[in-house]
This record gives sequence, structure tokens and C-alpha cells, in this order.
Amino acid sequence: MKLAMIGCGYVGLVTGACFADAGHTVTCVDVDAEKIGSLNRNEIPIYEPGLDAVVERNVVGGRMKFTTRMQEAVKSADIVFIAVGTPSRRGDGFADLAYVYDAARQIARALTGYTIVVTKSTVPVGTGDEVERIIREERPEAEFDVVSNPEFLREGSAIVDFVNPDRVVIGTSSGRPQKAMGELYQSLSANGLPIFFTDRRSSELIKYAANSFLAMKVTFINEIADLCEKVGANIQDIANGIGMDKRIGSQFLGAGPGYGGSCFPKDTLALVKTAHDAEMSLRLVEATVTVNGLRKRAMGRKVVAACDGDVRHRKITVLGLTFKPDTDDTRDSPSIDIVRSLQDAGAQVTVYDPLVRGAHEAFENVVHAADPYEACAGARAVVVVTEWKQFKDLDLQRVKDVMFGNVLVDLRNIFDATEAQRAGFRYVPIGKPADPRGADMHPYGWVTSEPHKGKQTAYAKPFVPQPAE
Ligand code: NAD
Repeated sequence: MKLAMIGCGYVGLVTGACFADAGHTVTCVDVDAEKIGSLNRNEIPIYEPGLDAVVERNVVGGRMKFTTRMQEAVKSADIVFIAVGTPSRRGDGFADLAYVYDAARQIARALTGYTIVVTKSTVPVGTGDEVERIIREERPEAEFDVVSNPEFLREGSAIVDFVNPDRVVIGTSSGRPQKAMGELYQSLSANGLPIFFTDRRSSELIKYAANSFLAMKVTFINEIADLCEKVGANIQDIANGIGMDKRIGSQFLGAGPGYGGSCFPKDTLALVKTAHDAEMSLRLVEATVTVNGLRKRAMGRKVVAACDGDVRHRKITVLGLTFKPDTDDTRDSPSIDIVRSLQDAGAQVTVYDPLVRGAHEAFENVVHAADPYEACAGARAVVVVTEWKQFKDLDLQRVKDVMFGNVLVDLRNIFDATEAQRAGFRYVPIGKPADPRGADMHPYGWVTSEPHKGKQTAYAKPFVPQPAE
């Protein structure tokens, strides 16, 4: 099929590249001429593992190209995907649909022959109706259908997620686009993909309900982590203990500094606003938004408390700026609030992130270090905000030796308490006691199906709760 992908961001590029890989011809459009220039020089403007190779082989194979010219892409397309951003609108938090509606207007002008227009962007319920109205207004004679097809990929594992999804949701009540969209997605896999067909409005709402549910799950485990700290329990054992229940599931139970990223914050907020417009309140989602917002700054205060309440003029090192590993995305990352709250408390903040280097608008008045050991040199405290593998592999003794102080605040629970303490750290994890358990005891949090026969039992490792997003 001939496809046009409007928007070359995380979603548009990955979606376009994967469809091209399945043999379709994809023309990717973006208003950002610089981005299109980079792509035409074979430079991928975002970091997503494996994406460069997929893009390259499809460009070389003539199945993928990039342009700023909407007309060129849309006129010959069977299906046009709208994959532009839908950020929070300044002021009220509702999804800003200006980019979607602009794209719809430009698509309308370029339509020739029957075309399926798909909203892949995350859009509030009813947006498809408005896209249809705009196109109809611009081109009353045009032959088209508007379909909702929200995207569930996660940055960092976007390609695997896209070609191997838990489900594909397609929202339309017409048979023609249903058939075409079904065929398009089935071409991604020889074994067939689980496709869930529904009406357009339900499809739009599924995306927000899914993200809000996951955000709520993360926020729940974070609150339980706080309770663990108060009552002397261990959040990782709680997460294992509840995650082994299939009704709950082990994913999104890694306690941390609060969810961030390009989706959960804006999507929870937009869902709350959608409910307000419908003259009702989604109180669980509202509470999730509030609790998570407060938590991010509270993490800054946790660091200050670990430094005996005073970080004035002290060097504090923040490891990790992205909202999760394996992406260069810092949108709404908890590190933004944590850095600001440390600066508000008078700290001099040095940062290190494997992919975010040099000046960045979200991180002002910080020093960017070239590597983690340089970042930690002379620091009073080190705070781990993102669970990059590079940080898990750090030589803790070397980190401690280059520091001036001895505080290690591990907001992702990536280090072993015993090891950290052996290196000389005052170790502050999330939701569990800092002091390691007696070395002569069996570690807790292990499971066995063997009856205990009075001798050493073969312990099986439990599955590990997965972090958010
Ligand atoms: P992004 O900001 O990375 O990319 C959007 C791109 O659209 C930008 O390059 C921008 O220049 C371009 N654009 C804007 N208006 C345009 C127009 N009229 N014509 C052509 N290009 C235009 O956004 P993203 O992260 O890829 O997200 C896109 C949508 O997908 C959002 O609605 C988001 O909520 C949703 N989504 C994102 C993710 C994710 O992990 N990033 C996952 C699932 C769904």
C-alpha cells in the first residue's frame, strides 16, 4: 500500500519505518525542515534503539522517503496517518489539537481519490468527528474515511512494541477502512496480530483509559513505597508479592520518583479535562495527577533530608535526565522537578545522562559532566533518577572515592544496599530499609515450589517488577 505519515517524531518515524519494512511505500512528512534535512542525510533526529538500521534499509530499498511537501505525500496515498504532537495546552491542560487540525486541513487540500485518514496521535474523544468535519468543509466532494488508530508503543522498545503489540485498536464503523486497516496491520506479522475493532470514539478513549490506568498503577506503588518507609517494609517484596497475582501483573510496579515522559502526564491531564467537559469528575485520575505532581518535588526534598537538611552551596550530582532509559526524551521527566527543587534549596547541581549532553532548555544553571565519575567528583550526594544500565554497572567504590560526601540516593532501587554500604555510602533507597538484612539469612523475596525439607531449599528467582513506561 502507499502510505503517508504526517509527523516524523517518535511515533511517526517508528510507524513509518515498520510499515516500510513490511513492504509498503511510505512518504514521511514534517513541517520541521531541519528534521527532514537530517533524515535525508540519513541522520535520525531521535534516539530509539534499532531505528536507524530499519530506516536506512528502507530508504535504500526505495520504500521510505522524507519531505516537507504534504501534497507530494498525500496525493498518491491510500492511507494517511496523522502522527503529530498533542501536547498539553498551556493554561488548562487539555490536549492541544492545533497540530492535528492543521494537518487535517493540509491533508484535505491534497486528497485525490478515496483515502483513509487515520489519527494515530493520542486525541480526545470526538477529535475524529472534528477531523472529518474539517476535511469535509475544505473538500466537500472528497472521498475519504476518518479512522482512529491510537499507538501504544513505548519509547526505548518502540520497534518491538510496534511489530509485536498486545493489540492493535482500530476505530471505525465503516467496512471499507476496516478491511484496509486490518490488511495493513496483518502485513506486519506472518503469525497475525490481535486486532480489536471498535467505533471511533471508543478507540480514542481506549488510549487515554490505558495510559491513565498505568499511571494510576505507578502512583499506587509509589504511595505504598512511602508507607513501606514509614512502617519498615520492603517495596520490592511487596511488588513481587502482589505482582505474582495474575490479576494484578508484575509490570509498572517499580517504585520510583514519579512517572514522567511524553505521554502519561499530558494524557492523564487531558482525560481529567475531557471528564470535566462532560460535567463529571474522574476522581481516581485526578488524585493520580496530584499525587504524582507532588511526588517529583518531594524527591528533591528527600535528597535534602538525606544530606541532613542542608545542601546550600553543595555540589549534588543527578544521574539520569531522561524519563526512562534507552530514550533521549526528557519531556516531563521527574529529573526536571528534582533538579529545580535542589537548586531552590541552594545546591549546585551537576548532571550526567548518557544521551542528554550539553545545554538543554529544561535544565538551566547546571553543569553537564562528560561521564558519571567526572559528574560525581567532589559531590556531597549523588542521586540516581533514571535507571540506565550504565549506572547499574558503576563501580560504587570508585564513585565513593571521587566524592566529597557519602550520600547515595537511589530513586530507582538499582543498587544493592550491602554493596553500597560496603563502599562507604549512606545509602537511601526508595520504599525499603537502607540497612541490609543479616548476611547469614536467606534473602527474602524468593519463591520456591519445593516443600522445605529441613535443608537448603532450591530457591527459584521471582520475576522482577518492571519499571514504568
Ligand atoms: P513528536 O513531538 O516527537 O513528533 C511530532 C512531529 O510532528 C514533530 O516532528 C512536528 O514537527 C510534526 N508536525 C507537527 N505539525 C505538523 C504538520 N502539520 N505537518 C507535518 N508534521 C507536523 O511527537 P510523538 O512523541 O511522536 O507523539 C505523536 C503523537 O503520538 C502524540 O499524540 C503522542 O501522544 C502519541 N504517542 C506518543 C508516544 C511516545 O512514546 N512518544 C507513544 C504513543 C502515542
